[in-house]
Amino acid sequence: MGGVPGCPGWGICATLAKGASKASALRRKIGFIEPHDIPGTGLHASTATVRKISSILGYVLVRAATTIAPLRTEIREYALPEIPPDAGLLQVEAAGVCGSDWRAYNSDGPPRILGRENVGRIFRIGPIAAERWGLKENDRVLLEEYLPCGRCHLCRRGEYRLCEQTESRLPNPLRYGTTPVSEAPGLWGGYSQFQYLHPASVFHPLPNSISAEIAAMCIPLGNGFQWTAIEGGIGPGQSILIQGPGQQGLACVVAAKAAGAASIIVSGLKNDEKRLRVAKALGADHTIDVEQENLEERVRELTAGQGVDLSIDTAGGENTIVQAIRATRKGGAVLIAAAPEANPVEFQFGDLLARRLTLRPCRGHSFQAVETALQYAASGRSPLYLMSTHKFKLAQVDQAIRAAGGRGASGAIHVTVFPWT
Ligand SMILES: [Zn+2]
Repeated sequence: MGGVPGCPGWGICATLAKGASKASALRRKIGFIEPHDIPGTGLHASTATVRKISSILGYVLVRAATTIAPLRTEIREYALPEIPPDAGLLQVEAAGVCGSDWRAYNSDGPPRILGRENVGRIFRIGPIAAERWGLKENDRVLLEEYLPCGRCHLCRRGEYRLCEQTESRLPNPLRYGTTPVSEAPGLWGGYSQFQYLHPASVFHPLPNSISAEIAAMCIPLGNGFQWTAIEGGIGPGQSILIQGPGQQGLACVVAAKAAGAASIIVSGLKNDEKRLRVAKALGADHTIDVEQENLEERVRELTAGQGVDLSIDTAGGENTIVQAIRATRKGGAVLIAAAPEANPVEFQFGDLLARRLTLRPCRGHSFQAVETALQYAASGRSPLYLMSTHKFKLAQVDQAIRAAGGRGASGAIHVTVFPWT
């Protein structure tokens, strides 16, 4: 391998130099570019290298883990698409596995490339897009999953995560990690070497100092800041109960700690023992195993009989919202971040009225919340690496999603896929 001056060591330069540029051989080479570490990034083939090969061959094939049926993913190859002047292409460095990927992976639907917490470098950018986005080739970015219309009243209010155009619960949403490959140009997800950049993309410029897996984690971490601080209003001196120590619950712990909460209580099940230890390391003051202790009694014990100022249910268990209501002080607030499969039988509206509780559903993140998460991650003030538990290759996307869904490798909190490995 190598042997050609300037060759980074992945072999194709030698192949070309020998005149052995048979299209079929090169096709495989392009599809399976060999590892070439770029210091300080998770990329394994520089954008310059891929661009050079693209110019020689006139095309590049993109490998993407494509979900073709419930719980079935296969590697498919796609032509690197041409882009219009108002769009672009991302060379994907890493894609975090969203907690909702497991639900999407279980559901029927047309073939699609999942992956919605995507980090990478701008590979191609049209002149209109460059002006609109304020970006250029090789810029490193974190991409939000939303592709909002930019015109509706929700978008105008900055609530673009709720825009109907990008609403994942409606048919045919325009959204990264959701839109099917049949919708041109097909590369809508992060479990792919390249991703199409639609004109409505929402970017966050990313310094090299943040690792790819931590950057991808800033999407769920943004949810933590959105729910806990921006919507929940948690602040210095206040108490909070967070149910569920998964990636969303732990993101809320990080955000509550950053906001100065005086008492952070996290509850989980017996098999959450390791996650509850991570919660403590991230700033939780108390953890509760609800299979060993009565949640309401323990919370009241920890809050001088009052209950917490704010509860956030990220567990979505059979009766967790009822427990949250009972563990929250009079006049406090209860946020619902996950819904149970069936309405809880013990839920009583009278409890809300009697104790003047605010019940508020929360979902997704604002631009500000993700920016705050990125700034906090860059500060190094929290051991966020404890949440990054598993890394997978492109060919292991099935295992990655199963791990994040609690059905595969054990102990997963936040899982990352590196498409160039
Ligand atoms: Zn809109």
